[in-house]
Amino acid sequence: MRDSAPPLRGSVRVRLRRFSQLMGAVVALTIAALLACHLWLQRSAVALEEDLLPHWKMAQQLYSDARALSAQATRLPLALSEGELDTVRARVASQMQLLEEDLARLEAHTGLTGDSAALALSIAKLQDAIARASSAASQRVALGWGAALSLEVSHEVNALRRIERDLARLVDEQTVVLSSYASALATDSERLLDSQRSAFALQRWLQTLLILFAGLSIGLLLMAQSRLLERRLLRRIDQLRQTMASGSVDERLLHADGRDDELDAMQVELARLLNRLTEQNQALEQLAATDTLTRLANRRALHERLALEVMRQQRYAQPLSLLAIDIDHFKQVNDTWGHAAGDRVLQDLAQILCSGARQSDLVARYGGEEFIVVLPGSPREGAEAMAEHLRARVVAQRFSLPGGATVPVSISIGSATLAAGESADSLLARADAALYRAKHLGRNRVCLAPEPSAPEAAPPPEAPAAC
Ligand code: GH3
Ligand code: MG
Ligand code: MG
Repeated sequence: MRDSAPPLRGSVRVRLRRFSQLMGAVVALTIAALLACHLWLQRSAVALEEDLLPHWKMAQQLYSDARALSAQATRLPLALSEGELDTVRARVASQMQLLEEDLARLEAHTGLTGDSAALALSIAKLQDAIARASSAASQRVALGWGAALSLEVSHEVNALRRIERDLARLVDEQTVVLSSYASALATDSERLLDSQRSAFALQRWLQTLLILFAGLSIGLLLMAQSRLLERRLLRRIDQLRQTMASGSVDERLLHADGRDDELDAMQVELARLLNRLTEQNQALEQLAATDTLTRLANRRALHERLALEVMRQQRYAQPLSLLAIDIDHFKQVNDTWGHAAGDRVLQDLAQILCSGARQSDLVARYGGEEFIVVLPGSPREGAEAMAEHLRARVVAQRFSLPGGATVPVSISIGSATLAAGESADSLLARADAALYRAKHLGRNRVCLAPEPSAPEAAPPPEAPAAC
C-alpha cells in the first residue's frame, strides 16, 4: 500500500487564489471610494446649483431693486404738479412691490431668519417714509408755487419742502441699509462660492490620487502574481520537464519530503517513480541476462560481454582466451538419477566454475550442459592452466544428488586464444572445435585450439590422449 501524501506546507493554488482575492478587494475598495467621492462631488454641485447660486442671484436682485427705489423716491420732492406726482408715486409703488417680492423670495429660500426680519422692518420704514413724503408732496403741490403765493403760504410750502427733503433722506438711508445688506449677502455668497470651488479642486485631487493609488496597487499585485507564477510555476515546470527528459534521478529529491507545494510534491513523486523504474529496469536487465537454473550469465549476456572484450583486446592488444566446457556423458546422469539430479549437478558445476574464476572473468551457461568461461588478459598458457585446474577440481569431487547419493562427474574443455583481428564468433567456433576434439579424444581433458591461420591437424586415431 502506498503511504498517503504528506500535508503540503503551502499550495500554489491557494496562493494564487489569495492574490486574486486581494486584488478583488483592492479593486472593490477603490471603486467604493471613487463612488463616495463622486457622490460627494455631486452633492456639492447640487448644493451650489440649488442653494448658493439662487441665494446669490436674489441678493443681487434685492440690491439693484433697492437702488432703483431710492432713485425713484428722490424724485418725489422734484414733482411740481399733481400729474408729475402721480407718475413718480406709481413708479415708486411698482419698485416697492418688486422689493417686497424680492424679500418674499429670499424668505422662502432661506427661511425666516433674523436678517430677513431686519430687512422687512427696513422696508416697512421705507414704505412709511415714502407715504409721508408723498402726502407732503401732495400738500405742497396743492398750495401751488411761484411769486403769486402769499408770504404765509410760501412759508408753509417751504416747510413742506424741508419735510420732503428729510423724508427723501430717510428713504435714501433705508435704501442704503437695504443695499448694504444685499451687498453683504452677495459677498457672503461669493465667499461661499469660492470655498465650494476649492472644495471641488480638493475633491478632484483626491479622486486623482485614489485612481493613481488603485492603479499602483493593482500593478504591484499583478507584478507579484507574475513573479509567483514565474518562480513557483514556470521555472519549476521547466525543471520537471528537464528531469523527465533526462530520465536520470536527482538523488537529493529522493530524500526530500516534497511538502512545500503541489509542484514540489509532484517533483519528489516523479523522482521516486523514476528511481523505482530505474531499479525495475536494472532488475529486468539482470533477469534477461541471467540463466534461471544456475544464476550464471546466459547466452545473450555472454555474446554482449564477449563482443566488448574482443573490442577491448583489439584496442589495447591485451590477450583474451575462452574455454568451452561440456559435461561428459551427462545424459547418463539424467537417465540414471533423474532430471532433478541433473539440474543439481549443473548448479554445483556452476559453483565450481565461478569459484575457480577471477573477478574479471565471465562464466556463462551457453545452453544445456555446456558452459563458457571468458578470460580477459589470459594468454594461451594461462587459459590452458586455468582449464586444467577446473577440470581437475571437477573430477576430484563427487557431486551430491537430491536423494543423498553422490556421483562422479568429468568435463571436457576446449580452449582458444583470440588472434589479432579475429571475431568473437570465430573464437567461439575455435573453442567449440577444440572441445569437440577433447570429446573425440576420450573426454575429461583439455584441448587447445590451434591458431586460426594454421591448418587444423587431424587427430591421430591411435593416440586419442594427445591433444
Ligand atoms: P557427451 O559426453 O558427448 O557430451 O555426452 P552427453 O550425454 O553429455 O551429451 P548429450 O548431448 O547426448 O546429452 C546432453 C544432455 O544434457 C541431454 C539433456 O537431457 C541434458 N540436458 C540439457 N539441458 C539440461 C538441463 O537443463 N537439465 C538437465 N537435467 N539436463 C539437461
Ligand atoms: Mg553437450
Ligand atoms: Mg555432454
